[in-house]
Formats: sequence, structure tokens, C-alpha cells
Amino acid sequence: MNRIAFINLSTQQVMVKDIPEELLRRYLGGDGLNAYLLFNYLPLDTDALSPDNVLIFGAGMLTGHCDVSLSRFQITAKSPETGGFGTSNAGGFFGPELRFAGFQHLVITGKARRPTYLWVHDGEIEFKDASFVWSKDVYETQQLLMAKMSNPDIQIATIGCGGENLVRFACVMHGLKRAAGRTGMGCVMGSKMLKAVVVKGSQSVNAYSPERMKDVFDKHLKQVTSTKLYPVISRYGTLTIFAIQNEGGQIPVMNHQYNYFEAAEENLEDEIFEERYKTKTLACFSCPLRCSHRYRIKYGPYQGVWGEGPEYYMMAGFGPMVGNNQWDVILAANDLINRYGLDIGSVGGYIGWLMELWQRGILTERDTGGSNLKWGNPDAIMGLINQMAHNEGLGGMVGQSASHAAEEIGKGSDRYLYQQRGLMHECSVGNRASRATALAEATTNRGYDHLRGRVALEFFGIPTEALAKIFGRPIASDFRAWEGKPYMAMWQQHFTTVIDSLGYCKFATVWPGSTGNLTYKEFAETINAVTGWDVTPQELMVTGERIWNLERMIVLRETGIGREGDIPPRVYFEPNKLEPLKGEKLDREEYEARLDEYYELRGWNKDGTPKQETLARLKLDEEPSHLI
Ligand code: SF4
Repeated sequence: MNRIAFINLSTQQVMVKDIPEELLRRYLGGDGLNAYLLFNYLPLDTDALSPDNVLIFGAGMLTGHCDVSLSRFQITAKSPETGGFGTSNAGGFFGPELRFAGFQHLVITGKARRPTYLWVHDGEIEFKDASFVWSKDVYETQQLLMAKMSNPDIQIATIGCGGENLVRFACVMHGLKRAAGRTGMGCVMGSKMLKAVVVKGSQSVNAYSPERMKDVFDKHLKQVTSTKLYPVISRYGTLTIFAIQNEGGQIPVMNHQYNYFEAAEENLEDEIFEERYKTKTLACFSCPLRCSHRYRIKYGPYQGVWGEGPEYYMMAGFGPMVGNNQWDVILAANDLINRYGLDIGSVGGYIGWLMELWQRGILTERDTGGSNLKWGNPDAIMGLINQMAHNEGLGGMVGQSASHAAEEIGKGSDRYLYQQRGLMHECSVGNRASRATALAEATTNRGYDHLRGRVALEFFGIPTEALAKIFGRPIASDFRAWEGKPYMAMWQQHFTTVIDSLGYCKFATVWPGSTGNLTYKEFAETINAVTGWDVTPQELMVTGERIWNLERMIVLRETGIGREGDIPPRVYFEPNKLEPLKGEKLDREEYEARLDEYYELRGWNKDGTPKQETLARLKLDEEPSHLI
């Protein structure tokens, strides 16, 4: 059942291998095993859009098993957006179905001669002509594939015209909203002429001990549904976070110029979404949290538009970030972005940047083709999304050049562009006031990343005694204080890496700050019931560290960027302009000192490279390895 298919699109050859147990125990699956495969199979000096780039789909090691929220899969390749480590995670039903079809990972190389989709079913892989869905949007593509195969139960991961047109930040979509969003994995699919991967299986994933597995599931289900978070997330999803972030003065407004958006009050609220737009509650495979929604716009210029989502990320990125306080605009933009298969994080960030350039007179109508990029202008927002997807005009230029867009525009535009490791800063995240989170998000391997670095446990004023119990050392309770925060940052990075390698959804874990949720102890319980191993929480922590270091090795090999890539954007070192948290900023000297401390904890050199003894301790000194 734990098998990898090596698929060459150029020759249409497939080779299948079993995954050795030693490899599973070292790297688990999902994110970890994907990183291992990329490190070992990506030829040196490969261009991200070359047929030699290696595109890897990986279900989590536990994905498809019967525990809470084991729905996730990971897509990994060299990133066309950054030239570095590309990787992104999504939920839904694709990951479990891939396991039911007999595979944990698909390693895809080469380039198809014509638009192609892969039909993966019960151990078989077929190459199919996708000409009839090429140029179709994400929704249409899935409907047409289901109709052609006369099967509404197939699961599909596809690109829209964003990926087909090689937009550097095109994503891979599954269903109507599940997105492997960041780092341009849809662009890599487009470069390979691979429109979709379609999976269906009738095999089951067997646990070593079905009895223990049942007990584990019952216990974890009770845990996850007993927290204070549960009633909120299962009703509003992540939209509830918006008011917390805004009222707390920690939301990026108008391309990070401000940290609080007054215009959102009484306009952008989770309850308004629920009352006026929500039509349905949805969940991923085996998830009681059901944080997702379907919606429809009933009135106004976008009447009839429907879709799935949005989450906090979309709400903040197409609300305050672009100076908009209209739900309709967020929901219409969400629909467009999902249909085109674009990454919300980068699209929102680039639109915010272009609007600031307009505000400062760096861009004029001559540059925009007559469009007025004033803050919150719905026509400008929709227009730029359309341009990016179709490679037209100013938006098209940004979509094709991404990290080099400021060089194209010139005129000092780079001063307002906030990227890290070449990745556009997330459009909904502004954490200069919170120390562990700022450090953890800034030192992630793919670029500034809340999914690996948000340290929610620092936000709730948890007493130091309780924090010491969790982390085994003194940690300051105030999120603005530094004591213990480098350790907290590192802990969180390893934790999120293990989550993404096992296939859990982060919302079922302590990641959102819900201490009653699942953590290493519960992960070990499930692993041991599934495999018969004797994994401990301590072993899992080391596994997270091993994967983190391997990913750092990929980053260093592909980009050569160490310490300089671990510094947050300039704006993080400038004071917040508004209350609450007015005046808060990172102090550059203090940050550098804490970065040294973080490297020391990791066993890294001051330039951000792992020491040889660290690699040896983690059994990474033998890489590249040929365990498979
Ligand atoms: S919490 Fe939401 S995103 Fe996570 S698995 Fe459940 S429904 Fe999916």
C-alpha cells in the first residue's frame, strides 16, 4: 500500500516501487518524503520550468486512515516563483483517494506532447488526452472530467488557465476551493502540459491494529470536539480570526502601511457572511471541524456568483490589504482566483503593492492602460486578477515575472515590495509585534510562511508556568517579549512539519492555539496503531527537525541563500502606525541576536547553514541517499 509511482510524461513510462519502512520512519510521507524525493531526484541546475523539474504529489503517511482530519496531501517541486523550495499542502478528498488507489506518492518528470491528464486507479496509471479541458476553468474542468468518466466520485487535482499560462504563482486546485496555493506548483504542472491528476480507488488502508485504531479515533474525536475552538470553527471557519487580528492591530492594511482597518468594522464580519451569503457547511475527509462554506451573492453587480470559501486569508488579503471593505468584492475575487487557479497569497500581495505604487504616483494610467488603481476599487482588483490569469497588461507582467516585477517597473518600486526568498509576503499576515511568530515565519524554508511559523500559543497570555510545562524551559508570556521565543519558533517549525508529513489538518492540532487539540502524543498513538511501531513524541520531534534540515539543504543547494533569507521584510523594522500596538516593531539588532540564538539551538552556523555534526546527528550526512 505504501508505494511510489515514478511517472515520465515524455516517454509515458511508469515505474512503481515500494517505500522501504526505514524511509517512512525517517521522513514519514507528505511534506517529509516529498522533500527527500526532491532532494534526491532533482538534477542540479534545473530550471523550474524545464521538463527535468520533479513534481511530487504526496499523501501524508497517515492520510486516509480513520483519525480526525487525516485528509491532507502535499505538492512539491522546484518553485518557479522563487527558484527555491516549492511546496504546498491541501485538504479535501484527493489525498485519501490517492491512498485508496494504491499510491502514497507520485513523482512526475518530463513534459507531455499535448495536454494530458493522469488517470490513477487501483494500482494503474494511464495517460489521457486533456485537450477537451485545456483552457477550461477549474470548476468546468472537474465537471467535464466527471461527465467524461461517468463518475462523480473521482477526485481531481487540476490547474486553471493560471497554470496553463505559466503564471509564476499559479496553484493546483482540488474541488472548488482546496488549493495547494503557494510557490507556483500549478505553474510547474502547466509547464509539463499536465492539466490534471484524477484518482479513484477501491483499496483500503489497513491498520496494524484495527482495535487500537478505533480507540485512538474515539479518543481524538472526543478531544477535538470538546475544545473552546470547536463550536466557533465549525460555524464560522477561520473568518472569526479576522476580528481578532484587526481589533488586535495585527492585520496588514494597504500593503502593510497600517495595522488596523477601521472601515472593516460592521462591514467585514463573520456573522454578516453567515447571514447574507452562506448556503452550506462543508468538511474534508474525516473532519468533524467542518470549517468550510459554500456561498452565493444574491444581489448587486456580482449577483449569481457562487463558490466555496473564503477563509481568513482571502478575507484579509482582499479586504484590508487592498483597502476594500465590501464582502461582495472579496467573494467575487475569491471565485475568480479559484476558477483561474491562482495563489491568493501572492495575488493579494501583488495587487496591494501595485495599489501603493499608484498611491505614490509611481504608476499612472499610462502604466495601467487607463485603469485607476485607487485603494479598494473593485474594477481594478478584478481587472488585475483577469490580467494575471491571461498574461495581459500590467497584471500579466507581474504574473510572468513575480519576484522580478520591481525590476520591470523600476522607479524605486522595489521599496514597497515585500518578498522573502523571492516569495511574495503573505497578503493577510503582519506580525511585526509578535516575536516568536515573526522569527518562526521569517526563517521558514519556502519564504515567509504562517502555516509553518505562526506560534499561536504566544498570543493568549498563557502563564509562564504553563508555557514552561509545554516547552520545558522559561518562555515569556507576553508576545512582545523575546525570552524563550527562538526555542518556541523552532519547536513550532518542527511541529508543523510533522503535521504536514503525517497528513493531519493543522486545525485539529494545537497549532491554532487550542491546547486540548492533538499534539505529538496523539500523533504517536495513531502512528503506532497504524504501523505497529513504537514511535515516541521525542522521536517525532527529531523527525520534524530532520525534515526541516533537509528542506534547508534544498534551499541552500538551489539558491545559495542562507541568513539573508531569514530576515523579515523592511517594513517589519518600522513602527506600527495605529493603535492597538502603535509603535511596535522589530528592533534589527535584537532580531539579529535572536537569530543567532535560534541558529545555535538548531546547531547551525551563523550564516544559516547546518553544521556537519548536526547533519550527522540527524542522519542527513549520507544524503543524497538511495534508499529508494
Ligand atoms: S478543519 Fe477545515 S480545512 Fe481542516 S480538514 Fe477540517 S474541514 Fe478541512
